[in-house]
Amino acid sequence: MSTRWIFTVAEMISFATEVRSQTKTLALVPTMGALHEGHLSLVRQARIQCDVVVVSIFVNPAQFSPTEDFARYPRNPEKDFELLESAKVHAVLAPPVEEVFPTGFSTFVDPGHIATVWEGAQRPGHFRGVATVVLRLFNIVRPDVAFFGQKDFQQVVIIRRLVEDLNLPVRIMVCPVVREADGLARSSRSVYLSAEDRRAAVLLSRSLKRAEGLAQSGEADAEKLLEEMRRMFAAEPRLQLDYAAIVDPATLEPVTHALPGSVALVAARLGQVRLIDNLIFGPPGSSAEMKLQLALTAPQPDKESAATPRPEIDSLRLKIENCRDCAALSSISLPAREFLFKYLKRDYPNLDVIRVLVIGGCAPMGPSDSPYRHPEQPNPFSTRLYELLGVRDFAEFKASFALTDAARCHAVGNRVEERTLEYCAKHLREELKLFPNVQTIVVLGDYAYQQFQRHILGRERTSIKPFPELLKAEGWAQESVRLPFYGERDLCVLYCYHPTFENKKSPSIAAYLCSQP
Ligand code: AMP
Repeated sequence: MSTRWIFTVAEMISFATEVRSQTKTLALVPTMGALHEGHLSLVRQARIQCDVVVVSIFVNPAQFSPTEDFARYPRNPEKDFELLESAKVHAVLAPPVEEVFPTGFSTFVDPGHIATVWEGAQRPGHFRGVATVVLRLFNIVRPDVAFFGQKDFQQVVIIRRLVEDLNLPVRIMVCPVVREADGLARSSRSVYLSAEDRRAAVLLSRSLKRAEGLAQSGEADAEKLLEEMRRMFAAEPRLQLDYAAIVDPATLEPVTHALPGSVALVAARLGQVRLIDNLIFGPPGSSAEMKLQLALTAPQPDKESAATPRPEIDSLRLKIENCRDCAALSSISLPAREFLFKYLKRDYPNLDVIRVLVIGGCAPMGPSDSPYRHPEQPNPFSTRLYELLGVRDFAEFKASFALTDAARCHAVGNRVEERTLEYCAKHLREELKLFPNVQTIVVLGDYAYQQFQRHILGRERTSIKPFPELLKAEGWAQESVRLPFYGERDLCVLYCYHPTFENKKSPSIAAYLCSQP
């Protein structure tokens, strides 16, 4: 595969249209070039998660003020292209300024208050330029997933808001900060640092680490942590601190108490070079991914409970409380739209013929685990599923069955949280509605059972029999139900062990399915 170099918007649109017509998933990694390991970490994640990866290289004049370093910003297209080619990127979009901002361009996105604090206060108009170009890139490429670095935390928050506020059909993935061996966050601008400045630059990450260390040993008072950070900067005359702050990850408002999920932001200048860095607070030993999870998904406690840090609550929050499909975490290796929706057009030209909907447990771990993605390669799940349903292969399967999952993520550890099931039920409900003639629903395993009972049928937890008890007698169970969107007709629901999760196996329900009207 050779990497394609695209310079015009028109060519990019036709490339992306072609990709979509093949029902492949498309990733966009927006960059300003002068690529380093930080950018490449995003590209690698994009390669894992999507079929086709586009990297854009565009030094965006709209995000630089007249006094900033637009003209001086490092540019290295040949080296960038080499790196992207070895990373097996499918296309590089490197448009000239007039392609992105043609004569007459006059519409800009205003991200609101959140763009006026911290970096926004130091660089007025910066995020207006960022949001505008990102929206334009999204509309040109129309990616399924776009990848951004935690390194620019405020940018992440603003882009996530942009996507939510304007209902953009793209999933935002956030990848952790990639650092040099001494802790300095990788940055295109660091090539301009003199040897002495480079040595001093490590203070940004060191001060963040110090604050985290203090927080982990029990000092939650944000002002005390900031005092310590400022003290460290004061001792290094080469560095001029623009700001140090500890903020709520959603609102970017300063917090009084640093809790897991709070974010420390720092920006400083070394002569002409401006550097930024950040760190998400987390309990000792928590990984970068976990911390991102905390910052991006866990609701921040209200002010009252924030006054006294409660370790038991914090550690609970570390568990997966939220659906990771919406958590935008780079650790999700699940390919985007690896759900039924993606395969409808290809595999189900006539939705009316589907009589049985099968609900599995969690979404497949990777593309090779999805029977839809690789129909010709049976995997342990599909083999046992076909056995259960009495079909020989995928072709027979898709003639009368459709398969979806209870939880839309696999990264849920050993336990699927109630909230995940509740959240994902809304997708499931939409999928059920797609097949107006479904007569039977096959529910595989305990998670799917819990979700179906609680969030599709709306039953009280106390009224639900434990799954093992329900299946105890025959290894499967059955009931008749009505769902509002199917009108006044009875549906048959069959509950079976999950083909690969549980160590018990249900007998084949094929005969039963065949005898259905
Ligand atoms: P830039 O080229 O600086 O606009 O960065 C392009 C993307 O790469 C942005 O989403 C950045 O947040 C991300 N990025 C830059 N540096 C790093 C880093 N050290 N670690 C992770 N991501 C990074």
